[in-house]
Amino acid sequence: MSETASNYDAPSSVPVGVDPTRASIARVYDAALGGKDNYDIDREVLAQVRQVAPEVNDLAWSNRNFLTRAVRFLADQGGIRQFLDCGSGLPTAENTHQIAQRIDPEARVVYVDNDPVVIAHGQALLTDNDFTHFVSADIFQPAEVLNSELVQKHLDFSKPIGLLHVGTLHHYTADNGAELMKEYIDALPSGSFVAVSHFFDPETPEHSALARKMENVFVHSPMGSGMFRTREQILAFLPGLEIISPGPGKPGGLELSDMWWPDGPKLRPLSQVEQCSAAVVGRKP
Ligand code: SAM
Repeated sequence: MSETASNYDAPSSVPVGVDPTRASIARVYDAALGGKDNYDIDREVLAQVRQVAPEVNDLAWSNRNFLTRAVRFLADQGGIRQFLDCGSGLPTAENTHQIAQRIDPEARVVYVDNDPVVIAHGQALLTDNDFTHFVSADIFQPAEVLNSELVQKHLDFSKPIGLLHVGTLHHYTADNGAELMKEYIDALPSGSFVAVSHFFDPETPEHSALARKMENVFVHSPMGSGMFRTREQILAFLPGLEIISPGPGKPGGLELSDMWWPDGPKLRPLSQVEQCSAAVVGRKP
């Protein structure tokens, strides 16, 4: 379904709770990453997508591995010491605070999610960590996030912030999302960074067809969302930012998530699904 033809709202604004008969974005993602916090209904979504894209789990790993490299880059090279991680997900893999606090143990991280299972896990995980906090809010309502008590208390908006919208915006389908991200970006001070990864329609005959097939299954599955946007549509999420070069000798721009400063040489070609996840990092001048 193309964006202009979209007539569905942002379903994730109404979290599914812990109802085991409804799929949740966080639990489906957890299942794709090999986690244990998911139900049959969540695995069913993946089984449906697997019919058209056998390597569907790559979509989750491409995203999560980008998050790891992006946070390391922001903390290390960008000097970022405070992060607003929107749609943080379940702690299946290494999390933002663990990556950032390896570089500076006092780096602050505020996680935001609206899935009750994520919130319960997050709060349990963070009880011992004074620099990491969890907010229950709708990430597609920037004012709700930015004005929340914990965000206001623990993030200093006079110093650069790393805003993460990693693997989230493809669940925002009400409009093209540019205004939503502008609201976040307007609130950030100069020197802040924004990292975004997104389901990607690469607009090539081969991979566009796959992207549209996956989108069709996701949208009509019990999860209800998962839009594959084009390069232009994803770049529109970072208005007014200087886009960071995604690799040696490359001009600033969007890149396949797996190719955004990969950790090492690639010895095998990317899978078909890995061609359908893209990432970008921008810096506010
Ligand atoms: N950012 C993490 C990562 O990249 O590994 C997790 C990505 S996961 C695919 C998307 C997360 O966004 C889920 O945990 C889901 O609960 C959360 N989410 C989706 N819609 C949301 C909303 N409207 N408000 C808050 N969180 C939301």
